[in-house]
Amino acid sequence: MACVDHAGNAAAFLKDKAQARWHDEALWYVRKKRDAAAASVPEWEELRRAAEAVKEHTLAHLGHYLTLFESQARANGIEVYWAENGQELNDIVAGLLREHGAKRVVKSKSMLTEECGLNAYLQQRGIEVTDTDLGERIVQLAGQHPSHIVLPAIHMRKREVAALFSEHLGTERDNDDPLYLTRAARAHLRQKFLEADAAITGVNFALAEEGGVVVCTNEGNADLGTALPGLHIACMGLEKVVPDARALGVLTRLLARSATGQAITTYTSHFLRPKPGGRLCVVIVDNGRSGLLQSGQKKVLTCIRCGACMNSCPVYRRSGGHSYETTVPGPIGSVLAAAKEPGRFASLPFACTLCASCDHVCPERIDLHDRLFAARRVAMESTCFGGKRRSLRLAAVLLRHPRLYRFVMAAARAVLPKLPRNWLYNRHNLWGLEREVPMPAKKPFRQMMRERKRG
Ligand code: SF4
Repeated sequence: MACVDHAGNAAAFLKDKAQARWHDEALWYVRKKRDAAAASVPEWEELRRAAEAVKEHTLAHLGHYLTLFESQARANGIEVYWAENGQELNDIVAGLLREHGAKRVVKSKSMLTEECGLNAYLQQRGIEVTDTDLGERIVQLAGQHPSHIVLPAIHMRKREVAALFSEHLGTERDNDDPLYLTRAARAHLRQKFLEADAAITGVNFALAEEGGVVVCTNEGNADLGTALPGLHIACMGLEKVVPDARALGVLTRLLARSATGQAITTYTSHFLRPKPGGRLCVVIVDNGRSGLLQSGQKKVLTCIRCGACMNSCPVYRRSGGHSYETTVPGPIGSVLAAAKEPGRFASLPFACTLCASCDHVCPERIDLHDRLFAARRVAMESTCFGGKRRSLRLAAVLLRHPRLYRFVMAAARAVLPKLPRNWLYNRHNLWGLEREVPMPAKKPFRQMMRERKRG
């Protein structure tokens, strides 16, 4: 598969300057809300260290906690399934829906099912899937994917949403009042909730000791979706398990504050057993995670998907989530994607200034900029960087041969200032799009030093 052209995608995003500025400012506003929320908790850094310890401990004993979760969940009447990859997840979910005779499904936010392409898989089998998180419903109606893991439609402005709703929900085309649009979405989604045969949710945390799953939403859509149908399927990556409800207390205090600057997510819903007469099925998915656990990048499995690193990242804010062509974009997404498919996503670890802003806001204290730097070493082996490798080999030849180096530099000093401007600044010189190429000094450094010594 072709390498993702992050720089090209970012350039396309930046063409609409007003939109790009708005995107940057909107995310920075969320970042500032996060800062204020963090500052309001005196023990914030202790909480971060505790969260890091909880997740690292869990990963170190992952087999134990997953089997404990499975046995406790089964004892609570929950059905537990295991999927090695996305295809298996999709097959298991489709099978459960078939058994249940489900034709209409409501789904709350789940990046895992995005990662595995579940919606398309089910729709190809005649099952209607409605995403019920407002942002996700917007991008679903637009035929797009989320551009942010917490704010899926942050790349769209309200007038675009108004046009979309007018086309699909019959609202007034020119009315982009958020209250009006939200009410229209609510009426539309209420109908979907009432008609649904089954509900699918993601999982924010799975409690091993208690044998239940926890889903955090701000809209209550997971609760509404699971309230009526007899079948609830919860899909979780295997890294979502935590030891118990005490550990959960640490993580939920960090999650909402880091994500949106709220003290707590509006709904933190615990599903500890099926409702009377109903089925609760949990599908635990690997899809490359156990490989990551064995690698030098395993720390990224402690991520709780708060999105703070994206809101903080100067590159993400200015290039938009779709420029990464991944389910999870931004700093954490770049490491995850490059670990999974280093060839295809080789450009992503370079979509970073190594400023480490992400490290400072990450509630799990993931050293994201170190992870990105490590991913660069692997990425450089990819065919995407054939041209760059050739340039560096040429530079190595020059630097190994001082006479040749001096000759080339002398030629550059003579020729560069005389070149027509369009020879230097054209589509082949991406570096020069935003910068002036520095002209060489009139005299070489060695000559200047000699003259200086002579006085
Ligand atoms: S890497 Fe850290 S900041 Fe980024 S989404 Fe994960 S937990 Fe949040």
